[in-house]
Amino acid sequence: MKIIAGNWKMNGTPGENSARLREIKAAVKEGENRVIVFPPFLSVPDAAAILKDTAIGVGGQNCHPRPSGAYTGEVSAAMLKDAGCGYCLVGHSERRQYFGESDAFLREKVIAVTEAGMIPVFCVGESEAEREDGSYGQVLRRQIENALGGLALTKETFFLAYEPVWAIGTGKTATPEDADETMGMIRSILKETGLPEDLYLLYGGSAKPANAASLLSRKNIDGLLIGGASLKPADFAAMAAYTDGDE
Ligand code: PEP
Repeated sequence: MKIIAGNWKMNGTPGENSARLREIKAAVKEGENRVIVFPPFLSVPDAAAILKDTAIGVGGQNCHPRPSGAYTGEVSAAMLKDAGCGYCLVGHSERRQYFGESDAFLREKVIAVTEAGMIPVFCVGESEAEREDGSYGQVLRRQIENALGGLALTKETFFLAYEPVWAIGTGKTATPEDADETMGMIRSILKETGLPEDLYLLYGGSAKPANAASLLSRKNIDGLLIGGASLKPADFAAMAAYTDGDE
């Protein structure tokens, strides 16, 4: 079983996304993989309704850690759950970079999402400079230890996505070998932090039909978090149809 997740980011009006959801519903065939879409908040209720009788899950792209209150513009984990979400992205590099979200704040979000009964899809990843100066191992360790250390994570209730920042939306994909090696390193960091090393690990960063099978066939890669290519229903469906031996 692989996890094929599509992060739509801030794309599509509700009308456009309803059409996209119907196309996805028609194109994605039920199979062995777990398929999830993360539309913008305004399309979450439509996603839940349109995908109701399918195996495709729905997730929020973000939430606030507090359950309610004076946080203008924010959405709580319980609101997402009630609207039909089973998942929520936490710590996407765009949230860290453009909204200044710290490891400590992301830790609160992981707890809130879990307590609301959803699966956090927690993102980690290094910048291009950190990849080039060789400090990426320390960066990944810091992100994991600070946000997740001491939490009771399980394979069934928590997914981790490795998304090298330099590969997101740039067309530059980590080679399958590099991604696999770094994700093996993440498993060691998880173990050394006292967390389960067998968590589902998703790779994200310019994944597309042309490279999906070679990424998914690697030992440490249990799924993909797909941005740009997930907006095209045919491409998303092609990746969702991956089966072992496809490389
Ligand atoms: C993402 O936003 O999580 C992502 C991986 O984007 P892209 O596939 O467009 O690089």
